[in-house]
Amino acid sequence: MKTLHILIVVTVIFLGASLYFFLANKVEAPSDGPNTSDGVVVSAVSHASFVLEFAGLTIFNDPVGDFETYVTYGVPDLILLSDIHGDHLDIQTLINVAGEETVLVAPQAVLDKLPLELHDKTVVMANEDFHQVGEMTIEAIPMYNLPPANDTYHVKGRGNGYVLEYGETRVYIAGDTADIPEMRSLENIDIAFIPMNLPYTMDVDTAAEAVLAFAPKVVYPYHYRGTEGLSDIAEFTRMVAVKNSAIEVRNLDWYPAEVDVTEE
Ligand code: ZN
Repeated sequence: MKTLHILIVVTVIFLGASLYFFLANKVEAPSDGPNTSDGVVVSAVSHASFVLEFAGLTIFNDPVGDFETYVTYGVPDLILLSDIHGDHLDIQTLINVAGEETVLVAPQAVLDKLPLELHDKTVVMANEDFHQVGEMTIEAIPMYNLPPANDTYHVKGRGNGYVLEYGETRVYIAGDTADIPEMRSLENIDIAFIPMNLPYTMDVDTAAEAVLAFAPKVVYPYHYRGTEGLSDIAEFTRMVAVKNSAIEVRNLDWYPAEVDVTEE
């Protein structure tokens, strides 16, 4: 009788614990919207421009175009700038969105194009540099076309991709790049933003192969309008799913009709 009593107590504890973990996992699943995972909220603006809520910071990535679009996101704590082209660098938009406390992070080539009023706010990072903003660490990752050459759209060393790390979460923003070894060798990436447009970055087949090489948990295709129109994101999604169903591809509306951005 005593044995039965203990058995019932153990069973009740086991069922209770199972229910708790089941519910806890349910809450952690991305049931809070398609744009949220690992505590990172992603809002697509257009092409390469988006907003992250991460590490307690509001982060604008390559904000270009009508600054009214950004008002809804508030004043950014951090603005990440990848390169000098018009689809990544819009000086008037930067002047309009940057607040008193906003920090800009940019490569030297971008700083060289910024007006003096933005220089004091800007931290220059070269490829492979690290910088801390609040509790988040930023690492600058190379971004360039293959084969490397001095007359490509993206010359190695000029622009930056970024890895943002906070706690256990690592977010990779590739910038305008091919499937470079520095991307393929990344580890423990939770969320990756990957470009796929010709002739400026890479095609969807190459992008899928690159993503499979470093296997992030979640991939957001972005920067995918090229000279032939929008890349076949459905095909990219299919190729990734066939070879590694553990990688989740999330597709957002990067090209709303009212926003017109020149790709590069
Ligand atoms: Zn671009």
